[in-house]
Amino acid sequence: MLQDKDRIFTNLYGQHDWRLKGAMSRGIYSGLKDMIGRGRDAIIDDVKASNLRGRGGAGFPTGLKWSFMPKDSGMPQYLVVNADESEPGTCKDREILRYDPHRLLEGMLLAGFAMGANTGYIYIRGEFFNEASNIQVAIDEAYDAGMIGKNACKSGWDFDIHLHRGAGAYICGEETALLESLEGKKGQPRLKPPFPAGCGLYGCPTTVNNVETIAVVPEILRRGVDWWTGLGPENNKGTKVFCISGHVNKPCNVEEEMGIPLRELIEKHAGGVRGGWDNLLTVIPGGSSVPCLPFDTCCEINMDFDSLRAVKSGLGTAAVIVMDKSTDIIQAIARLSHFYMHESCGQCTPCREGTGWMWRVLERMAKGDATVDEIDMLLDVTYQIEGHTICALGDAAAWPVQGLIKNFRHVIEERIAGAQRAAAE
Ligand code: SF4
Repeated sequence: MLQDKDRIFTNLYGQHDWRLKGAMSRGIYSGLKDMIGRGRDAIIDDVKASNLRGRGGAGFPTGLKWSFMPKDSGMPQYLVVNADESEPGTCKDREILRYDPHRLLEGMLLAGFAMGANTGYIYIRGEFFNEASNIQVAIDEAYDAGMIGKNACKSGWDFDIHLHRGAGAYICGEETALLESLEGKKGQPRLKPPFPAGCGLYGCPTTVNNVETIAVVPEILRRGVDWWTGLGPENNKGTKVFCISGHVNKPCNVEEEMGIPLRELIEKHAGGVRGGWDNLLTVIPGGSSVPCLPFDTCCEINMDFDSLRAVKSGLGTAAVIVMDKSTDIIQAIARLSHFYMHESCGQCTPCREGTGWMWRVLERMAKGDATVDEIDMLLDVTYQIEGHTICALGDAAAWPVQGLIKNFRHVIEERIAGAQRAAAE
C-alpha cells in the first residue's frame, strides 16, 4: 500500500487550496528553474529511465514518445495535453484539473522545454466547465507570477499555455481526432502514418500526452528516478490514480502504487464489494473498453499494465468498474455497445456498421431472443472489427463483447434456453 509520503497528488480530494499560493506550499514549482537548467536531453533521459508509461490508457513509454520529437525542425513544435477524459468509469484527470491544476502546468513547462515546444495546449472535455474554469484561473496566476510566458521561471525558455474546450465527443480523446478538433475541424481520427511527432498540429511536430502523465513528471524529476522506480513492479513503475466505481460501498479515486492487488484496492479504499467479496460477479479493470475479468482472476490479479495484459484484459485508464451478482451482465455490455455505436465517428465501415450490429444483437441476447449459433457469429464480428479500423475505438467496442462471451457464455446460453422454454410453455 502506498505510503502518504510517496503520494504525488496531495490535493486529490480538494481539501487544500488549489490556487498558486496553496500549490507552492505543497512544493509545486520548487526547483523548476534548476530542473530546466539540466537541459532537454537530461530531462528526456530521466523520463526514459523512470519507465513512466502513459496514463491515458495505452501505456506507451513516455520518454520514448518524447524522444520522437525532432531536435530542431525549424517549425513551431507543440505539446498538447489530452484532458478530454471521456472513457466511462474514468474520472481521475478531472480531479487533477480542478484540484491540482498547477501540477499540470508545471509538468507542461518541463515537457514543453524537453521537447522544444514553446506552446502548449490543454484540450479539455467540454462538459468539464468547473475544471476549465479552475485551469484558466491557474494559467492566469502562472502568467502573473512569471511561471509561464516569456522567460518562464527565469529559465530563459518561453512557454505559452492555451486552454481549448471541446464539445463533448468521446472520439476527440483519440489524439489525432483531438488535433483535428483543435484545428477547428470535425473531430475525426487521422490515418497514421504520419504520426503527430512528425506531422501533428497545423502540420508541425506535436506530442499529445494525458493529464496524469504530464502531472507526475515534475515529481519524478524532483524526487529522483530511483524514488519512482522503487514503486511498482518491473516495467510498471510508480503510482497511479485509480477510479473505483460501481457496486462498492465507497466509490472513490485513490492514488496507489502500480501493481496493487485488485482485491486490496477495492477492500482497502472502496469499502469492499456491496454484499461482500463473494457477491462479486466481475470487474472491468481499465475503463469500459477493456474485457471484464472472471471472479477467480479478480481474486488474484495485480493492477498493472503487464499483469492485466497477461489475462487478456488491460489497465487502460485504471477505471475499475465493479459489478456484483445483481448485474445483468449481458445488458451491461449491451449498454457499453450502445455507447460505442453512438460515439463512432463513422469513417470506417467495420466500426460504423459493426458497433450498431453488436448492440442490436446484444439487446436481443439480453432478452434471450437469439440462437446459440449467434454467439459465435457475434464473436466473429468482434474479430472483424478489431484491428481493422483507423483508430482504437473499433477495438474498444469489440473487447467488452469478447470479454462477455469468453467469461459469461453460459449466461447467454441460459438466457436463450430460458426464453425458448418460456415460449414452448
Ligand atoms: Fe471513426 Fe470508429 Fe474508424 Fe475510429 S474506428 S476512425 S471512431 S469509424
